[in-house]
Amino acid sequence: MKKYTKYILLLGSIVMVVLVFVLTFVFLFLGGSNADDKTSGSNDEDSITLASLLPVITLKGDAEITLVQGNPYVEPGYDINDIDLLDKVIIEGHVDITRAGIYEIRYHVANTNGDAASAVRTVTVAARSPDAQVPIFMYHEVADTTWGIENLFVKVNEFEAQMKYLSDHGYQTLFVNEIRCQTGFHKKVVLTFDDAYIGFYTHIFPILKKYTIKATLYVITSCMDGTPYVSTEQLREIHDSGLVQIGSHSITHPELPNLNQTDMEAEIKGSQEALEAVLGTPVTSFAYPIGAYSSQVIDITKLYYDDALITGGTIAGINSETNYYTLPRYGVYRSTTLQAFMDMCSHGR
Ligand SMILES: [Zn+2]
Repeated sequence: MKKYTKYILLLGSIVMVVLVFVLTFVFLFLGGSNADDKTSGSNDEDSITLASLLPVITLKGDAEITLVQGNPYVEPGYDINDIDLLDKVIIEGHVDITRAGIYEIRYHVANTNGDAASAVRTVTVAARSPDAQVPIFMYHEVADTTWGIENLFVKVNEFEAQMKYLSDHGYQTLFVNEIRCQTGFHKKVVLTFDDAYIGFYTHIFPILKKYTIKATLYVITSCMDGTPYVSTEQLREIHDSGLVQIGSHSITHPELPNLNQTDMEAEIKGSQEALEAVLGTPVTSFAYPIGAYSSQVIDITKLYYDDALITGGTIAGINSETNYYTLPRYGVYRSTTLQAFMDMCSHGR
């Protein structure tokens, strides 16, 4: 028996060492991922997401500060192993739970040796869950033959199948400027078309008339009468049908945030003036070219328009907090199946 004892002890030691390694690894792994956990809390109206719920910041040496959740909406409490540092944590930042946004709270601490540490916690206050939401579809061109980016060209028969689906299933179509006055969007959709390519007149407009479907068309004013865009005469006919709201898509389709204030305003305001001169009616909706916008772009757009659309995104939530100058849209592409279109239509409520 005795001669096996040292082997058993050796084996036991190996097992112990392996166990310590494994436990250390598990501890580190879980400890590390814990700091990145996203935790949601909610009350009736707000959805709060806390990223890095428990950031751990470590000073040089042994002092460690562990920030723990106190009132998650204002500022967390904190535990500090080094009691001398308890009163020395500086908290910068504040979370306003009444305003949707992404907030950062920064924590700083330093000891008398000049060691310092800091941590950041990000708190996202989501918009109130929308009372209503509406699918706004974004199309570019409808044509079988393509040039440029093929996926922007929805095939004619597929576009017609989408419109027939809306018609057969009792969907109501809204102009963009009708969104605000609705209380709900069950079986309601908004169709928008960017750039005003010639296919709007030759392919889309006849189908809209066939099914009595409404749409909003965003025109690049310097392109009117050029190839391959609609002409001013065609635009008047489209507008006079009563089925199409005309919106502006700037004069030259620039990336607006890159322009200086003067050029930015000229593009936003000038295109409105040009369209109003052609149509003789107010033009109240704007679509940012390439979907590019900034707070400065929005500020100028607000001076002249009632609403503005971005490129892409998902469903547009509509409630008292809705920003009507960043309305998102579902893109409809050559690759979009009828089933996918039907699914997106069903999201209105
Ligand atoms: Zn465009």
